[in-house]
Amino acid sequence: MSVLTDLQERSGTACELCAATTDLDIYEVPPVSISGLDVSLLACNTCRSQIEKAAEMDPNHWRCLNDSIWSEYDTVNVVAWRMLQRLKKTEGWPNDLLDMMYLEDTVLEWAKATGEGLSENEKIIHRDVNGVILENGDSVVLIKDLKIRGSSQVAKQGTAVRRISLDRENAEYIEGKVGPTQTVLITKYVKKI
Ligand SMILES: [Zn+2]
Repeated sequence: MSVLTDLQERSGTACELCAATTDLDIYEVPPVSISGLDVSLLACNTCRSQIEKAAEMDPNHWRCLNDSIWSEYDTVNVVAWRMLQRLKKTEGWPNDLLDMMYLEDTVLEWAKATGEGLSENEKIIHRDVNGVILENGDSVVLIKDLKIRGSSQVAKQGTAVRRISLDRENAEYIEGKVGPTQTVLITKYVKKI
């Protein structure tokens, strides 16, 4: 079975965050190095776009987390935790939900891996060649040819890399898929698009 059918089956074909039943697709929870059920959840377009673009958050939409924080699936817990961290900057109620959540240590570590909930000066900031801040989920283009480590493949200058994820330990590294290969990119050799 494919990941999508597995997700549809476990969720009853509903968004695992807000229970919407339309525009559903796989959301891979960053930082993603391998695809698969263990790093995926089924989410509607509204949830996916607000997860990826913090600027477009509608706090009321995320009242759905009242229910989804109790999910038995780690990926749902991780995303719920991250969204609550983001929401608590402007709202009071997310703190109550965070207090009720219990995450195993390994799951909490994963939840923290994208830096959500850290204050600005604790955060490692990734910038592209022009100094533009890069976020998880952004798309970039390569500004020079790139040898793909461990293969003979070369990604040409101008190649677009979509849905990057940031290396939380190092501000110079991001990850993204070049063709089918997940690879590490250096921030000074990419430009945000
Ligand atoms: Zn949703």
